Amino acid sequence: MKSNKQRRTEIKARRIERAAALEARLRVQDARKLSAEGPLQGLELADKSRLVRYNAMYGDMPDFYLDQAYICRDCGAEEVWTAKQQKWWYETAQGSVYSQAVRCRACRQARRALRVAASAHAGANLLREEVTRLRALASGKPTPEPQAQVEAALQSKWRSLRVVAIEVMGCWGGPEQIAQLEAFVAGRSRGHGYRSWEREAADVATRALARGARVYR
Ligand SMILES: [Zn+2]
Repeated sequence: MKSNKQRRTEIKARRIERAAALEARLRVQDARKLSAEGPLQGLELADKSRLVRYNAMYGDMPDFYLDQAYICRDCGAEEVWTAKQQKWWYETAQGSVYSQAVRCRACRQARRALRVAASAHAGANLLREEVTRLRALASGKPTPEPQAQVEAALQSKWRSLRVVAIEVMGCWGGPEQIAQLEAFVAGRSRGHGYRSWEREAADVATRALARGARVYR
């Protein structure tokens, strides 16, 4: 019994052989005439109307695509970039004329996963920095600039930033901030879900007011 890996290797080898044979025929025969005799596996005619952007910039356009062997840049596996994939890449995805397959599917997926993980990590770090920066405003005075920053944080898509903004207002505890915190508390009934923002904001505001009550009430 053959393993899937063996089977895939054989398919690739067949494709590469087939492409070499086709290439030899295309040296003496026109691709269009050749495929007029019937569809040829491993050969796709180019649709030049979808490649016009190349012509203006680079001159000659391809007449056809042929299965193409390449070595994966990362793992060294011998791979085939099929004629169908090339046609899709250049004509549908409008890939760059200079680009071609350099990595196998598994290595492309691994790279993508790494990129996603890296950007999520960067996002988490940024958020942490932003929370720290915002929290530091609490020890200052509510002059217009920090106030504007707290207002902006209240509109943030990140809940944790909005929570810190309310806490900072509680620490400032001026009449404007107290009024705003009380508005949050009054809004508690508008949020129905257990995880609703209105409810959470009201609870954070209640705690902030309770802490400030000793000083300002
Ligand atoms: Zn690879």
